[in-house]
Formats: sequence, structure tokens, C-alpha cells
Amino acid sequence: MTPVPSELLHALKSGDSFLITSHIKPDGDAIGSMAALGHILVRLGKNFSLFNESGLPEKFTWLEIPGIINKRPPEGDFDWIIVLDSGNADRPGKYISDLMNRKPCINIDHHPGNTSFGRINWVDPEYPAVGEMIALIAEELGLELTGPIAESIYLAVVSDTGFFSFGNTTPGVLELSATLIRNGLDVRNLNPLITNQWSRARIQLYGLALQKAEFIDEIGVGLMCITRNMLKKTGTGPEDSEGLVNMLLKVHGVRVAVIMREDEPGRVKLSLRSAGDDDVRVIAADLNGGGHKNASGAVVEASMREAREMIIGSCRRHLG
Ligand code: 5GP
Ligand code: MN
Repeated sequence: MTPVPSELLHALKSGDSFLITSHIKPDGDAIGSMAALGHILVRLGKNFSLFNESGLPEKFTWLEIPGIINKRPPEGDFDWIIVLDSGNADRPGKYISDLMNRKPCINIDHHPGNTSFGRINWVDPEYPAVGEMIALIAEELGLELTGPIAESIYLAVVSDTGFFSFGNTTPGVLELSATLIRNGLDVRNLNPLITNQWSRARIQLYGLALQKAEFIDEIGVGLMCITRNMLKKTGTGPEDSEGLVNMLLKVHGVRVAVIMREDEPGRVKLSLRSAGDDDVRVIAADLNGGGHKNASGAVVEASMREAREMIIGSCRRHLG
């Protein structure tokens, strides 16, 4: 695993002000990493602002974040833009290219195929979460992993490892988590805040979707769809389908689990998961998506029926 590049540490020490961002629809790794890096910059006495085009998802409002997460690029100058958990320069959304024209960028990420879009790039897919990379930055700077910085890093690493159940779980991430707990992290109170965030409406949505689960036995694919009608009927939003795909993987014989979610008429978001050696990134890449070996996604301009044909076709090509 690559250590923190010295030029990155130098940029953090010598810069005065920073803009920190991450991919749209941020997950626990994106939000936890942003918050942790913000706490580091507080301890270094730097100016910074936090920016994510989707804002802070409701489920993370319990986290102690150093400042607000702006949905628009904040006014004012900064020396560096720091992009977290984003495999390419488009993942943070539509404002990012303008920002990157103005200022140099530090790219910290763990997605395979990252396009190295920064002036400084620290990209290493061996790290299970960007949060672990931020923890290494803190350690290099001589900062203790305690308090809100520890909570942010813990949120990041448990989000991307599925509480240490996914294939990306490493000795390093377990040792880091042990250090956080030894330093006083209150897992008894934290774990329910991270995992027990479902609404009743979400249970209803899961019920509708699970009833219609479909299995293609010869290639080991499980499929579910979330239609706009299901969301409307249950009073849920697209974010409520998060995590549902993992339930399909629990079914014996399922190698690849797929959720197709109709975000708009004619636009379907796909989420793919696998366990072990099956690589869903190549399946998603056929549909111009990406991600990790065991967790990938794509967005296709298609009807639900067409999206189903497309994803089954891609699965057949790769899961022979
Ligand atoms: P999810 O299924 O939870 O939305 O995403 C799983 C993984 O796939 C994430 O690590 C994310 O980076 C990646 N991913 C999701 N959607 C897309 C997409 O539309 N394009 C690309 N390149 N990656 C995606
Ligand atoms: Mn991540």
C-alpha cells in the first residue's frame, strides 16, 4: 500500500486555504473522509470549506462535521481543491470542472481506474476506504485519532467495508479500527447511529421490491427493480434503496446482485454487488459505469425493460 506522498503533506502544511469535496450522493466514506480531513485542517489552523453538490444526507446529520457542507461552491479564494473518493473528475458534479480550472487539485481516492486528474494524486485501490488514507495523513501530521476525527474515520471505514464483512477488509483497516476503539471511540453508541437509520416507509419499499426479486440461475444473477411507482406508493426516495442490493447477495447461488432503480422516466441507475472473485466493475464498465471489483454502479438512459436487457447481456458476457 502506498504511503502518503510527501508532496501531499507539503501542500497541506504550506497551503493556507482549501476546498474539500467528494462525489455526488455521498456515502459514509465520502462524508466521513470530508469531515475527518476538515478536522485535520482545523487542528492545523487552516482555512477550508466543505462542498458537496448533494449536500449532507439526512442519515449523517448526527456526525460532528467542522462546518456546513455547502451545496454550491462557496465564494472566496482557496489554494487547493481536494477531491475525495472520486474515480474521475466528473464524479463531484457539474461545478467541479470550473473549480478545477481555477485551482490545482489534490486527488485522494481508492477507485481502480482513477484517471489521476489532480496535480497531486494519491490513488491506491488497495485501501478499502478513503477514510483510512485520511487517517494515515493525520498520523503523518502527528495528530491523534481521537474525538470527532476518529468518529469520522470510523464512519468511512465501516461504510466501505460493510462493517468489515466485504472482501476488501484488510489487516490494516482492522488495526486502524482497533486503534480508534483503544483511543476511546464509543462503538456502542456509534454503531446504531450508523446502521439504524431506516424509516418505516423503507421497510414497505423493501417488501415491494423483495417480492419481485428475479433470479437467473445459469449465470448466478439476482435482480430487483425499484420503480418510480414503488417509491411513490411507499413515500420513499431513491436513497431508501441503498443497501437493498446486499440482501440479494445473501441468496444462495447468487454471484452478482443487481438493483435497477428508475430515477427518472428513461433513466435507470444500476447498483451491482458481488462477493469473492466475480468482478462487477467490468460488468458496469460495459454500460459506461465503474466502481470497485465487488461494488459498482452505472446510469443508463433507457427504460426499465431496456436496462434489464442491457445488464443481463453484460452479465452473460462476463459470467460465462
Ligand atoms: P452504488 O451502487 O452504491 O451507487 O455504487 C457502488 C460503487 O460504484 C461506488 O463505489 C461508486 O463509486 C461506483 N459507482 C456508482 N455509480 C456509478 C456511476 O454511475 N459511474 C461510475 N463510474 N461509478 C459509479
Ligand atoms: Mn470509498
